[in-house]
Amino acid sequence: MTYVGRFAPSPTGPLHFGSLAAAVASWLDARAAGGRWLLRIEDLDRPRVQPGAVDEILRLLEASGLHWDGEVEFQSARTALYAAALERLARDGRTYWCGCSRREMEDSALSIDGARIYPGTCRQGLAPGRTPRALRLRTMPEAVAFTDRAQGDITQSVEREVGDFVLLRADGFHAYQLAVVVDDAAQGVTDIVRGADLLDSTARQILLQQYLGLPTPRYLHVPVAVDADGRKLAKQTGAPAARPDDLPRVLAFLGQAPAADLAIAAKQWDPSRIPRARTLSAPAAA
Ligand code: GLU
Repeated sequence: MTYVGRFAPSPTGPLHFGSLAAAVASWLDARAAGGRWLLRIEDLDRPRVQPGAVDEILRLLEASGLHWDGEVEFQSARTALYAAALERLARDGRTYWCGCSRREMEDSALSIDGARIYPGTCRQGLAPGRTPRALRLRTMPEAVAFTDRAQGDITQSVEREVGDFVLLRADGFHAYQLAVVVDDAAQGVTDIVRGADLLDSTARQILLQQYLGLPTPRYLHVPVAVDADGRKLAKQTGAPAARPDDLPRVLAFLGQAPAADLAIAAKQWDPSRIPRARTLSAPAAA
């Protein structure tokens, strides 16, 4: 099977060191395999899109030599695909409408990613007089298991650890978990290389692939870059935007040998050297 990889940034701001590291890892893995590398802008969460961020991301990728194949895809132009997937799930009895507000879920346990585990209030149908707000997936107790190429064997019961998660949000936007699964399959993606902040989302995505009859790609999650205090590098923690001259530090962060340019780095690419860790300190800037 021909390798198809992708980078799928959300245009909520410029890329930081950690997101550039994910882009470089994904690009190197694709090029080392002689594969294609696609670029998809995940701009579904319209309220979080920052004007100018798409241009900034494209310019940084180009200036860093991370050239992509084909046209840049935008999720905001692909909502018909997500709606069709929802219809199929609904037809198969996999979804239900939920009328609960965030406040009503405040007493529920926290899930692995810090959201509330949905207590299942509307699972058997909306109580009379309740307005449908969000569409949820009816999850199953069976565990989902997969082997991540860097992080090893992962097992998760989506029902127990995450709960019935949202596919169509109360504000009308399709959820990331649904869109990413539909797009990766529609674009023929065989290999997903991304930050380990999404490791806990992977079981949800595999469950959706199974329900939609879609193939499951291979996964490789690279560590998330954190600062000296262990906080993820992001706009909120005041991390600076990444620059093309961060590339030597990115290679070191990914456990790779130094390389004068990306073509050499692709020849030397050794995924088994990627640290098996969910988070890792970013090397200090020179
Ligand atoms: N858009 C997501 C993000 O920027 C990444 C999605 C993915 O790689 O699956 O965090």
